[in-house]
Amino acid sequence: MRILKTLIMLSVCLLQAACLTVRRDLFDHYDDVAYIEQELRAIPLDLKIVQDRGVLWITDVKDDPAEQVRKYNDGIFSMYDRYRDIYPRGLVGGDIHVIFVYLKTSAEMKQYAWKITGGPQWGDHGHIHTDFIRLKRLRSRYYVCASEDTGSDAIFHEVGHVLNHRNLTYLPDWLDESLAKAIAPYDPSITLSVVSPDGRTSRRAINYYSCQLGRYLQDYPDFNMAALMRYVQRGNFICSRLTLARASDALCLVFKYLAENNKLADFIDRVEAGKKMDMQILENCLGKQEGQIRADYLQWLKANNYLPPQHF
Ligand SMILES: [Zn+2]
Repeated sequence: MRILKTLIMLSVCLLQAACLTVRRDLFDHYDDVAYIEQELRAIPLDLKIVQDRGVLWITDVKDDPAEQVRKYNDGIFSMYDRYRDIYPRGLVGGDIHVIFVYLKTSAEMKQYAWKITGGPQWGDHGHIHTDFIRLKRLRSRYYVCASEDTGSDAIFHEVGHVLNHRNLTYLPDWLDESLAKAIAPYDPSITLSVVSPDGRTSRRAINYYSCQLGRYLQDYPDFNMAALMRYVQRGNFICSRLTLARASDALCLVFKYLAENNKLADFIDRVEAGKKMDMQILENCLGKQEGQIRADYLQWLKANNYLPPQHF
């Protein structure tokens, strides 16, 4: 019995270790389209290898893959520039290699991610696969994966993680998630049923982050910035993916606010240097007290349609 247990434990460990490293040969042949095509031929998808400005994409989308890749690369390069502005001490680039895997459906990704990248599909809305056993700063090979049917803009969010890993040393999960959301050049919306004061129900597109902020406020109706920041950091310890998602969505809006006030770089710098985030840092960055920050922030949320209407 003990031997069986040991064998099971050993195979689980080997499986985990296999998940923690990337498939390397495609990176070793980054410029060799013929090799990559040959290697992926056994996968029963109509995969095309597209290279644009030195960036490699593997995709089976039907609608003009070259044009789609060009469009996404435009967004990604603008994101690099934006990241340099937000975090000017960054090392962006260097020897990072990224292969983008962009499939038609999440179901295809679930089925073939292992074969293409060497790792499983970690999440329905895009994921990265990299050498997870290495320190974030030392990782140089990334597969950025997303599916057309579940929101292809997730590509940008995942690129945010790559940039964060490379440039920030402290980087707890809450910071990584919130910043990846804040610097992605898109603002997702979701469609919800909304009941108007006269009782009629209609479907409305609502900004995703404001919706999440509304859910946060259902639990914590007494809105204040200090409590929000404590909640965000606690989400990291509770280790619930839902808590981390909601907390980072709420902080993402604060980061967007700081970015518009040209204070995000300073804020991230101070958080990284002190390895903590608190109200004092926010007050020092903005040069205001909490009450004033709260009032200005609410004003900004309202002006940018981020205010969940039912909560203020
Ligand atoms: Zn993420």
